[in-house]
Amino acid sequence: MPTVYPIVPGHEIVGRVTKVGSGVTKFKPGDLAGVGCLVDSDHTCPNCQDDLEQLCPNQTLTFNSPDKHLGGVTYGGYSERIVVDEHFVLRVPTNLDLAGVAPLLCAGITTYSPMRRWGNLKGKKVGVVGLGGLGHMGVKFARAFGAHVVVFTTSPGKKEDALRLGADEVIISSNAEEMKKYAGTFNFILDTIAADHDINAYINMLGRDGNITLVGAPQTPLQVSAFALLFGRKSLSGSLIGGIAETQEMLDFCAENNITSDVEIIPIQKVNEAYERLLKSHVKYRFSIDMSSLKSE
Ligand SMILES: [Zn+2]
Repeated sequence: MPTVYPIVPGHEIVGRVTKVGSGVTKFKPGDLAGVGCLVDSDHTCPNCQDDLEQLCPNQTLTFNSPDKHLGGVTYGGYSERIVVDEHFVLRVPTNLDLAGVAPLLCAGITTYSPMRRWGNLKGKKVGVVGLGGLGHMGVKFARAFGAHVVVFTTSPGKKEDALRLGADEVIISSNAEEMKKYAGTFNFILDTIAADHDINAYINMLGRDGNITLVGAPQTPLQVSAFALLFGRKSLSGSLIGGIAETQEMLDFCAENNITSDVEIIPIQKVNEAYERLLKSHVKYRFSIDMSSLKSE
């Protein structure tokens, strides 16, 4: 989708309700609330009826999406306030660090949803490819689901951190010998890599009926070996955030299991610097912007 300027990004938003409309029943002023990637949908299509608003063909994204009410495009969370239909507003648990909750609204649900859909991961062997904003959440959820968690990374420097986040093992994916040892042993793999990479190397890690789900989006098409899938009845899937009901379920799960994203809090004035660091993966693992800094120069 082409960017429409001026743009106000931000779709991992946490704050307090300041005002509610007369028809609002779920929230009152003072409540904690969150807004993720979606602010509207048609409520009538088969996907909406199945609580899968993220797949609605008439959805409105939180920013840079045609605004059905005001015209122009929607503006996101890098702002003092946002007005949203209560159906798309999440209840935020009061026992969690709010800066660490914000990334749950995209990175959290993106990794939670495909693992939940796979089924009961207790005792299963789960791989997480890549340890960034998405990957570190994947590790935390897989651990909380009771899986044996293995992180695939190209950076030996990330090994210690992967173990701290809850991984049982770490595989340096550039080490062919190490990769060979684990071939055919995984039930499920979450692939969070947004750059071009050899997907067949990970399909080969799956055991019979294993599934690898893409949540990262490389710009160039991936080359998939059919034989890698045929032998072992393996499957390759994609997944996109989650519906509103499932996002609420994920937040409640996080409250029960004390899960948040690892964040570094920055003022809005440092956003360009943060972007440069993001490109170099110099963040553990998400930046959270303190929006009160908008008021200072
Ligand atoms: Zn719909």
